[in-house]
Amino acid sequence: MTGPTVGVLALQGDVREHLAMLEQAGARAVKLRRPEELAQVDGIVMPGGESTTMHKLARAFGLFEPLREALRGGLPAFGTCAGMILLADRIEGGTADQETFGGLDVVVRRNAFGRQVDSFEAELAVTGFDAPFHALFIRAPWVEKVGHDVQVVATVASGDAVGRIVAVRQAHLLATSFHPE
Ligand code: GLN
Repeated sequence: MTGPTVGVLALQGDVREHLAMLEQAGARAVKLRRPEELAQVDGIVMPGGESTTMHKLARAFGLFEPLREALRGGLPAFGTCAGMILLADRIEGGTADQETFGGLDVVVRRNAFGRQVDSFEAELAVTGFDAPFHALFIRAPWVEKVGHDVQVVATVASGDAVGRIVAVRQAHLLATSFHPE
């Protein structure tokens, strides 16, 4: 039996780590960079990295509109960190010309955790998981507001940011503030 073919958005960021984890999980993992590659995948992972750079490169590769359309058409997607930003309908703290693919009815705040806790690790209770999940946050965003159809999957359990939303799901879209890979 072969698993699904999952494309990892390979414009910038931690692409290799996602490819390796997807293979380990039984999927066929491929890099995705060009619009014509969209037809070959059953789903897509948007990695952590720099959302502004990924946006610019997606435009440069002619991938921006086709990927946006594919997401609208129901392509399953998992965005992590910068990937969460790219899936959000609205962002706070973006650059003036920053666009997102969108699809998730949320407001995401970039670099939300601030300087002091730039990067940190935390144990999270994730809906549907039996055990706490060890999550790594690197200049991470959080979800500021969620629309009606968005399910909150995990929030921060302690510290200054307690209660902040760090994982959400809406239909075929999943996004986490943290790096799971
Ligand atoms: N701060 C980054 C951005 O705005 C995201 C950081 C990450 O993906 N680890 O794109």
